[in-house]
Amino acid sequence: MQPEHPCILVSNDDGIDAPGIKALHRELASIGNVKVVAPDRERSAASHSLTLQVPIRAQHLSEDVVSVNGTPTDCIMLAIKNLLKVKPDLVVSGINRGANMGDDITYSGTVAAAMEATLLGTPAIAISLDRGDDNGFDYAAAARIAREVSLAVLARGLPEGTLLNVNVPNLTSEEIQGVKITRLGKQVYEDLIIEHTDPRGRPYYWIGGQQETWSIEPNTDYTAVADGFVSITPIHLDLTDYRTFALLEGWELDNITEAARAGRDK
Ligand code: MN
Repeated sequence: MQPEHPCILVSNDDGIDAPGIKALHRELASIGNVKVVAPDRERSAASHSLTLQVPIRAQHLSEDVVSVNGTPTDCIMLAIKNLLKVKPDLVVSGINRGANMGDDITYSGTVAAAMEATLLGTPAIAISLDRGDDNGFDYAAAARIAREVSLAVLARGLPEGTLLNVNVPNLTSEEIQGVKITRLGKQVYEDLIIEHTDPRGRPYYWIGGQQETWSIEPNTDYTAVADGFVSITPIHLDLTDYRTFALLEGWELDNITEAARAGRDK
């Protein structure tokens, strides 16, 4: 089932010069034909945004590396729909500088690139490296994990609409405890907005204050990484909350059209 020379599209949100994407490119080149199409600068927290108001341009830095002045989502769409001559067998996004766990995945450009690939029908993996104790990042072990997860997905595929969100602890290959299949955790941000006053006496704000704290719950991505395990969370893009159907049925929402009509005629 696995293609002999798979085409692997690589992107990220830290920018094309980030050490994480370079480590990923190097490692994946041992298992396939890698094309890198990535933002020309850091676009962390770009989420799943598309650039619609200005033109996007692609600069070919080499045969297999293209820099784009757009978001991670722009990169994947442009690559799959235009730049690549063949449809990729796999998209790998990362290796992000910092974990993408819990609610943070809704802001993440790294995960969004994998989401876009999934929407376009290509199996995708997002991979992020947790910050080390010394605030450092050593991508070597995470790159090898990315290679192994990539081989697994190339061999087996993924269910329709599902991507894998992988978070790797900042440890050596020998120190990593194993792999856990996890659910998204929950973090609590405090003092999130920093307010200061500029020299003209007007307030300005920075988003992103203190380090977040996490609620420690079993089987979450955060707990797995904190315990030294690679966390793999399957993410599905059907955001429908099927559990809430019955609840909403009980709201008797049919009445709102009647009420809206009555309101209009007043
Ligand atoms: Mn990033």
